[in-house]
Amino acid sequence: MSAPPPPLPSPLPSSRRDWAALLAQLGVRPSKGLGQNFLYERGIVQRMVRSLGIGPDDLVLEIGPGLGILTDELLLRAGEVTAIELDGRLAAHLEQAFAGRPSFRLVRGDALKIATDAVIPPGRPFVVVANLPYAVASAVLRHLLEQPHRPRRMGLMMQKEVVERICAVPPNLSVLAVATQFYARPRPAFDVAPTVFIPPPTVESAVVILDVLPEPPLPNGLHPRFFRVVNAGFRQKRKQVANSLAAELDLPKDDIVAWLTGQGIDPMRRAQTLTVEEWVRLTLAAPVGVTS
Ligand code: SAM
Repeated sequence: MSAPPPPLPSPLPSSRRDWAALLAQLGVRPSKGLGQNFLYERGIVQRMVRSLGIGPDDLVLEIGPGLGILTDELLLRAGEVTAIELDGRLAAHLEQAFAGRPSFRLVRGDALKIATDAVIPPGRPFVVVANLPYAVASAVLRHLLEQPHRPRRMGLMMQKEVVERICAVPPNLSVLAVATQFYARPRPAFDVAPTVFIPPPTVESAVVILDVLPEPPLPNGLHPRFFRVVNAGFRQKRKQVANSLAAELDLPKDDIVAWLTGQGIDPMRRAQTLTVEEWVRLTLAAPVGVTS
């Protein structure tokens, strides 16, 4: 058996100065609106890809490949990489930089508007890896989790404060934590300092790994009701959950109290103390008025 061919040399720069020069050469002035903080430390992307255990059998979806530092590492480890980039100048650069890589596919467009089934063959397992644009990071996360075709695992670099919110436990849950933990088991992987980006962001970053559940705890048809109940419970966060639900769902307080106590939940608790499992039970036992 002949040895596998050596990996292709990276088409990308290796020093901070050369990454900055590449940006200048492409005429890209990093846009805050598009969350353009580009990594230049290879050690960070190597650690990220290693933490996810990506191998030759994996199909990876990358969101926002930018200049391609993470893409380059993914192409070394994964079987295939599909990447979605919104900025046309970066898309043109990526097409050129990775032109000789048959395992790379670039999709131009807004990741928030693209269904996973439009870019990943239906039914095929895949992993999402991304250094997300911070302004839309939680929206991208929810978009991916709410797709009928969900990734089996995700490794996302985001604002550290958002990672902490996603991984929170009772009594510190939020709608974002409940919505994420309904679909996945998140765990923080490691922190990333602002100094490894061009330009450095004003906030700390962190990587979160999410193991997506094969099935969420409720069938698809009940997801809208689940989110209606959760959103209503959290709308008036400082209030007791019974008061918030009564006000938002426009139901008599007595009915709400009976609903909560029937599920063993003290009506005086606050929304952020309820577990995902308790929200699921409330959804299943919801009174008429919530179900209709
Ligand atoms: N992956 C690169 C890295 O680690 O250096 C770039 C990460 S940068 C934080 C975010 C990237 O997402 C940018 O390339 C930006 O143009 C792109 N982007 C922003 N909004 C996007 C969207 N809605 N859909 C797809 N890509 C987007």
